[in-house]
Formats: sequence, structure tokens, C-alpha cells
Amino acid sequence: MKKNYRYIGFSDHNPKLKDLTTADKKKILSKRRDTLLQAYETFEKQASRREGVSVPKMYIGLEIDIRPDGSLALEDELLDMLDYAIISVHSQFHQDIETATQRILSALEHPKVKIWGHPTGRMIQERSGLEYDWDTLLPVLKQKDMWIEVNASPRRLDVPDDLIPKVVTAGVPLVINTDAHHEKHLDFMKYGVWMARRGGAEAKDVANARALKQLRLR
Ligand SMILES: [Zn+2]
Repeated sequence: MKKNYRYIGFSDHNPKLKDLTTADKKKILSKRRDTLLQAYETFEKQASRREGVSVPKMYIGLEIDIRPDGSLALEDELLDMLDYAIISVHSQFHQDIETATQRILSALEHPKVKIWGHPTGRMIQERSGLEYDWDTLLPVLKQKDMWIEVNASPRRLDVPDDLIPKVVTAGVPLVINTDAHHEKHLDFMKYGVWMARRGGAEAKDVANARALKQLRLR
């Protein structure tokens, strides 16, 4: 509400403890959903007492690891518990371009997936991240009506500005995300906006600059 947002999505990481069964993960995800819905309801009640405020709509998403072989760290049946899914690489940053491209193509096969998070996986001054055959990936992303994240965390700024014109020309919308792991990190949004602008993107190229009605999540 302080940011005057019309909507917000929560995208914790997928459950990562070892040896979790599908049933365990299902339990974790439904508990999380209940917690968020309850908190939202309480918040909405408090907010409705104040005049002239509009409560942002809440979406419950998840950021899911793309494993080195392109499979996702969450079962397809559990993806249906989400309003949207982000898929991201968090491991194995030394694959060659063909293997990395194939990895993403496999991950894109899951119909619920909407956003490809911090695509290169670079960490500024730490690692350069993965390279891909963008001419292969972009038409697939476009055809699947997917979005590419501009991760606004100052450590990432990913997808990088030099790739943004390619993404925009291919007609794949960007989505600017703070990667917030703390309330304070919501202030990172401006870095993502600047990165997108530096790459030549305009508001019309950014999915989460759209009005709520035009958002069209899965
Ligand atoms: Zn991530």
C-alpha cells in the first residue's frame, strides 16, 4: 500500500529440504497458502477502516529451481496450487551454451510456468553467469506467452541491459522484480526500472507496469 501498488506477488523458493515427498511438499505449500491468505484477510480488514486506500491484490507464486538437466524442483501437480510460477537457475553455472539452452527449453515445457527469473544467473563482480542461444529461446518464450524477469537486486541486475533490446524486439514482455528477501528490498524496484530503461524498454514492454485487468497470469 505504501508503494501504491495495485497488486503484489509472493514468490518464496520451492521447498528445498532433502528427501521431501510430494505429499510433504503439498502440505508445506498449502500451509503457506493458508498463512498468506489469513494474513491478507487481517490486513484487508484493517485497511478497509481507512479512507481512500486501495488494498493491492495478492498473488501467491513460487520461484522454482531449474535443475541442471532442465527438470523442475517441483512436481507438475503441485504447480497447480500456485497463481503463477517463476523458474530460475540456482546451480551449475558452468554449462556450455548448448547444454544451458537445452536446459531452459526443457524447463519451459511445463505449462504453468510464467516467468523466467534472473536468466543468466550472473552475480555482479562474483560470477558471469550462463550464456544461451537467445535466437532459439526467445521464439519459444513468445509462443508460450512467458515473461523474462529484470531482477532489480543490485547484486544481479539480470537480465542485463545489453540483452533487453533482443527480448523487447522478440515481443517477450519483461517483468521487473525486486527479488526481495526483506521488506527493505522492495526499494530495489528503481534499479530494475533503470536497467530496463537503459536497455531501451518502455512501460508497454513491462508486464507489471500493466493495469491489473491486463495482467493475465496463468
Ligand atoms: Zn532466484
